[in-house]
Amino acid sequence: MSFTSNWSERHVGFVCGLGSFGLSRGLITQKGIAGRIGSIVTELYLSPDERKYKDIYEYCIMCGKCAENCPSRAISVERGKDHIACARFLDETSEKYNPRYGCGKCQVEVPCEFKIPRGSY
Ligand code: SF4
Ligand code: SF4
Repeated sequence: MSFTSNWSERHVGFVCGLGSFGLSRGLITQKGIAGRIGSIVTELYLSPDERKYKDIYEYCIMCGKCAENCPSRAISVERGKDHIACARFLDETSEKYNPRYGCGKCQVEVPCEFKIPRGSY
């Protein structure tokens, strides 16, 4: 099973200087990880923003709170994220709550929910 998409808003955000990735694989921006990102492809010339980080996980403090919150135990500080376990859990929610489904417990009540946690813990 492949979880590689041909376009990733998070990766565009990373390249453009919006933020770095977290252990739960979301993008931690100045506004935190609990949000939605969109991108627009344009020929308009815009001055580039400064990218304030070097490492892809620079804003994540590896606290493991997202792993604790995960109902399917799909995240671990040692092993990273198990996308199959996460997808399986989302499928279960779909069976139960169709047409709605989802989770996102790894993005709420965590130090990176609405800010960059580095320095605050
Ligand atoms: S909860 Fe902690 S480990 Fe998980 S992404 Fe946020 S800062 Fe990183
Ligand atoms: S979306 Fe839910 S199941 Fe998937 S990693 Fe986050 S907390 Fe775990």
